[in-house]
Amino acid sequence: KKSEKKRNRKDKDQSTSESMDKGTRILLTKFVSQGKLEEINGCVATGKESFVFHGTCPGYDDEKFNIDFDAQDVAIKVFKTATLGYKDRQKYFTGEFRFKGVKYSHNPRRLAKLWAEKEFRNLKKMQKHGINCPTAMFLKNNVVVMSFVGKQSTPAPRLKDLKGVTTRRWRQLYRQMICSMRVMYQKVELVHADLSEYNILYSQKKAVIIDVSQSIHSQTENALEFLRKDCWNITKFFKSKGVKCWSVRELFGFVTSLSINSNNLEPFLEEMQRIVDQRDPKDSEMIEKDSLFMKAFIPKSLSDLDQEETEQMSLNYVERILKGETSEMFYGEVMGLKKTLDGIETQPEILKNLDLKDN
Ligand code: ADP
Ligand code: MG
Repeated sequence: KKSEKKRNRKDKDQSTSESMDKGTRILLTKFVSQGKLEEINGCVATGKESFVFHGTCPGYDDEKFNIDFDAQDVAIKVFKTATLGYKDRQKYFTGEFRFKGVKYSHNPRRLAKLWAEKEFRNLKKMQKHGINCPTAMFLKNNVVVMSFVGKQSTPAPRLKDLKGVTTRRWRQLYRQMICSMRVMYQKVELVHADLSEYNILYSQKKAVIIDVSQSIHSQTENALEFLRKDCWNITKFFKSKGVKCWSVRELFGFVTSLSINSNNLEPFLEEMQRIVDQRDPKDSEMIEKDSLFMKAFIPKSLSDLDQEETEQMSLNYVERILKGETSEMFYGEVMGLKKTLDGIETQPEILKNLDLKDN
């Protein structure tokens, strides 16, 4: 119990980060008495909405629940049951079709449980598709136990705090991140929605994506707006590390493009690399385009559209472009349509004049 007091004193959010509630304490004690955990050590981080503890798992095998873990270090993420922090989170909830008809609760205990469930489920899905993230081990109420990323009880550095790596490494990490974002969107069908150097750890020379409780399904109403923000954050950060990044617009296009597949992914990345290498990163036209893109209109409700509605929306969109209300064509792209919106796009624009065999 002493360890709970070891929380980061510098944390500004003292007002809401009082110690854990009794129910959560009992729950953690139970984990130990049930043998799921061996010990629970110090708190490695505390934020507005969670405490993260280091602990150890003695190894755990339960056929009934199809669980089988080796002995290992774990991170115990406790979602706070007494916090005002969840107030800002409604935006992640609204439009999430899995919660259609479910009223956003203001009961912090219920919310804490909801976010823990989401974190657990999202980590599971990510891992299934090969995203480098902690392994979700078990979930109970507002507590998620996952594999610990770091050495012994010291968590791996966040990208924000990472020092002393070469530009070559930053370039590799950038490449890894943009590919992960694409897999997240296309395969896991998630948009992280809080992706930045704060929520990516660096371990074994790779980026590890964490903090996915607020991540949303890629087909929900606000998903593309969150994705655009994620693209912006990642670009801004890696640029500051001297990486020649794609424009935010290009990254967004890459993540959402339906015309990129396993056959043309490598050529696409190579071609983009060639283009970006030739570009002046301070190119003011590109920066200008990106800031326009950040303000551009993003159509909502990509899900649940039938053919007729899609066509209607496309028409409206073309109209808007003609009227000069928006200069960007990304709607068609996101839907996998040609620039002219009159058919399915099968090859990314930049690969059109390369000679690639069709799949
Ligand atoms: P929050 O929502 O409070 O930001 P995060 O999931 O980002 O929660 O976790 C906060 C911090 O806890 C991280 O920055 C990291 O230092 C640490 N942490 C979280 N998960 C792990 C993990 N699996 N392994 C090691 N450290 C972790
Ligand atoms: Mg975080």
